[in-house]
Amino acid sequence: MLKLFNSLSLRKEVFKPLDDKAVKWYACGPTLYDYPHIGNYRAFLFYDLLQKWLEHEGYKVTLVMNITDVDDKTINKSRERKETLSELYQFYSKAFFESLDQLGIKRAAIYPRATEHVPQMIALVEKLLTKGIAYKGEDGSIYFKISSFKNYGKLSHLDLKGLKAGASGRVGTDEYEKESVSDFALWKAWTPDDGEVFWEAPFGKGRPGWHIECSAMSMHYLGESFDVHTGGVDLTFPHHENEIAQSEGATGVRFAKYWLHNEHLLVEGRKMSKRFKNFYTLRDVLAKGYSPRALRLLLLSTHYRSQLNFTFEALDNAENTVKKLGEFAFRLGRAKGKGGRSLDSVLASAKKSFAGALDDDLDVASALATVFDFVKEFNKAIDDEKVSVAQAAAALDFLKEFDSVFGVVDWSASRGVSLDAAIEKLVAEREEARRNKDFKRADEIRALLKSKGIILEDTPTGVVWKKA
Ligand code: AMP
Ligand code: ZN
Repeated sequence: MLKLFNSLSLRKEVFKPLDDKAVKWYACGPTLYDYPHIGNYRAFLFYDLLQKWLEHEGYKVTLVMNITDVDDKTINKSRERKETLSELYQFYSKAFFESLDQLGIKRAAIYPRATEHVPQMIALVEKLLTKGIAYKGEDGSIYFKISSFKNYGKLSHLDLKGLKAGASGRVGTDEYEKESVSDFALWKAWTPDDGEVFWEAPFGKGRPGWHIECSAMSMHYLGESFDVHTGGVDLTFPHHENEIAQSEGATGVRFAKYWLHNEHLLVEGRKMSKRFKNFYTLRDVLAKGYSPRALRLLLLSTHYRSQLNFTFEALDNAENTVKKLGEFAFRLGRAKGKGGRSLDSVLASAKKSFAGALDDDLDVASALATVFDFVKEFNKAIDDEKVSVAQAAAALDFLKEFDSVFGVVDWSASRGVSLDAAIEKLVAEREEARRNKDFKRADEIRALLKSKGIILEDTPTGVVWKKA
């Protein structure tokens, strides 16, 4: 039974979608004014883990992940680069989608762009104006009146008692601290700084605020009420709080049922962010020779609700683990020992604990510990020639199941065996030479293979080879 921690209730809740096994989910995606950093990918990998686990558990997931292509940051950047917003989007979205593929992240059902959904945003603002929950400020912008929404603060657990009476301020920027909670902009009246970026609306020429973008796009694709809404913890306030206010204020029904937030990736104790200039992009990491799998493993190996401090040392360890998992897959493919009962129960209990751990609010630490124990036990048993062909096949199935969620096993290490016929032939020739006690020839072949980057390992069950 899957349980997920809901930021609304601050409790783990049994996961029950509104429509049986169909999951409607909106995830806050990137603001494409630059290359996303690996902190952003921590969020996207958390989404990936959740999507893959839900699917593993038989849910049919519709994930909508927005792309913010108009806001203060994108407008500034497009001015700097002397490009239109659309050109800026073309450039960074290409890099973004490439990175998703490199990291093995399953695509969302749809990636709506804010600039393509302005009519829906305008309609939502109009509805709020009609209901008297929004008003026009002296600057011509439209603001949400937080005092008119009695549940304001329910997600970020704000105590507004003292505040409401005095909350007369207004904020025009999209991001602000809890201390400055106040009426916020739904629609920003055009100013010369916006240049060519504006839309005509019945309530004046301007552009949408960031928060209304997500309310409008999520409800457009998923309906007024849907199951899951995710984002990094930095989005809880004000972004998600404001999304709830706008959406529920307009519709009168519950917006998202489960709110899930991932903690940050840190560098030396501080949130990785563009603002602090303490970030690495995926390109930076790959340029240093690390594999995308290692980064995946590192970013997935800490529970999504715990902070994770990024170090290259930890990435080295992850790389090592990835290598070991690939070797394990390879060894399983070759095991033909005599078999034994105890291994069957090792496998059965590993499977059970693995599923139990992920069902418990995606407890990756326990899930990975289970898998690593299983790998250790089986590796030992392979050394002792105890793993039968059938047991190895069952173990491989479990490794594949694990990998359908985690995506960190390098299967090419094991497939190499059958793919590379020329190498197989040399290995066989060397074994033949050894049997004939022609050690000179055997050593020659070993050296030849080494020069091709292939290392031979003589094991009790015969020789195996792997890539250096
Ligand atoms: P942005 O492009 O800034 O809108 O962020 C895209 C997603 O990445 C959001 O869900 C953010 O909450 C998340 N995010 C930003 N920085 C970090 C970080 N350092 N660690 C984890 N998630 C982050
Ligand atoms: Zn959002």
